[in-house]
Amino acid sequence: MGKALGGSTAINGMLWARGNPKDYNLWAQQGNEGWSYEELLPYFKKSEDSNIKHYSSHHQGKGGKVHLENSHFESHATEYILRAAKELKIPYVNYNAGDQMGIGHAQGALKDGKRWSSARAYLEPAEKKSNLIIKSKSTVLKVLIDENKVAYGVQYIQNGTLYEAHTRKEVILSAGGMATPKLLMLSGIGIKFIFDKSPLSPENRKEEIVEYLKHGKGPLTAFSADLVAYFKTKVSQDEDGYPDIELTFSPKRSNDRLAVAVNVVLMHPKSTGTIKLLSKDPLDPPLIDPSYLSDENDMNTVLAGIRIAQTFTKTDVFKTYGGHLDSEPLPACSFEKFDSDSYWRCAVQHQSICLSDPAGTAKMGGENDTDAVVDSKLKVHGIKHLRVVDNSVIPISVTGHMMAPAYMIGEKAADIIKYFWKSK
Ligand SMILES: Cc1cc2nc3c(=O)[nH]c(=O)nc-3n(C[C@H](O)[C@H](O)[C@H](O)COP(=O)(O)OP(=O)(O)OC[C@H]3O[C@@H](n4cnc5c(N)ncnc54)[C@H](O)[C@@H]3O)c2cc1C
Repeated sequence: MGKALGGSTAINGMLWARGNPKDYNLWAQQGNEGWSYEELLPYFKKSEDSNIKHYSSHHQGKGGKVHLENSHFESHATEYILRAAKELKIPYVNYNAGDQMGIGHAQGALKDGKRWSSARAYLEPAEKKSNLIIKSKSTVLKVLIDENKVAYGVQYIQNGTLYEAHTRKEVILSAGGMATPKLLMLSGIGIKFIFDKSPLSPENRKEEIVEYLKHGKGPLTAFSADLVAYFKTKVSQDEDGYPDIELTFSPKRSNDRLAVAVNVVLMHPKSTGTIKLLSKDPLDPPLIDPSYLSDENDMNTVLAGIRIAQTFTKTDVFKTYGGHLDSEPLPACSFEKFDSDSYWRCAVQHQSICLSDPAGTAKMGGENDTDAVVDSKLKVHGIKHLRVVDNSVIPISVTGHMMAPAYMIGEKAADIIKYFWKSK
């Protein structure tokens, strides 16, 4: 998605939420050997350099390439929400340390309050290595595969000129959850698509800019959320401890009043969509039909999540400080009674957005899994010397966001590939 060195980590919301151990245990239960939480934990830790509150040395890493911090700026709203959570008996958690149920300070991929993309983390330190060539402003058109189904390179275009890059070992495709399936299809490999994650959802800036640039402090260091909370709604059929809703709390300015945007994020959407080629022109975008909310369970879960979010407004701390739900109805839904279930259903239909976490579009699974595109070593079924290493391989969506799993997949793939070629 992000057309930059570092891909979407160059433009994303920086929130670090790797999901629930059960997510990865489900991957392993589907026949993906080596992908249980315990087996993946060393790779999560290897990627991380955690400088966060309530750091857990068992679950989190230090000394890795991805710097992690909490926001350097805390507004009063954050304090009120934490106090309200206490009143509601919602436990305080480090949601990346095993147990997610509760509320905690958001963790983000930042260093000294500034974005820490994968280009800064991994490419900059390696850019002088003789075995790395970075070709920016280049678009891969297809993977080159010979008549024996062996991948031997890629065709790409740079400044209007067509090139081929050939490999002596293997091709690794890491174009992300949307472009990887497109490239596979353009290369003659047909796949299905499983879609992921459908969320709901200046005055004196000069001083803030100086504070941010000079000291890495102030409101501009805030990222997509200050606080993150996980809940199991009343409509969930899952076991206890496995959340189906995430709330992210982002303090906003609103006409000099303290305002907080609460995003209600659906963790395990049951709706699935399709991705197809629009044409054979590799420069055309793919045709994506996400079919958001096509499964009624998704709407019911979001609705239950909205009701949980509203419990905060009933607390004494909110009452003391005049905290209330913004009751300005969405114009498109003003024909419904405000705050009724039908009002919220209408609002969700009109205003929900996707958090841009596409995954599972070239999923990992065994030979007998007819939906699987790659095996547990990330090799494309039926093609030699071609691997996919990005979020496309994720077989089941995680109870969090997709940047942390993307780094983990990269770290694990590096070991798989090194081991494979060393043992040859
Ligand atoms: C706006 C936004 C906000 C987000 N916020 C968060 C967040 O707060 N927390 C979180 O955990 N996740 C977030 N995400 C998701 C997260 O950034 C991604 O899940 C993660 O970066 C995926 O990594 P990836 O390697 O699979 O793909 P990508 O990061 O998408 O990388 C793919 C790369 O391949 C390149 N590429 C694609 N096609 C071609 C081609 N044909 N030729 C050459 N290069 C190509 C792309 O330009 C890109 O550089 C967000 C994403 C977006 C877009």
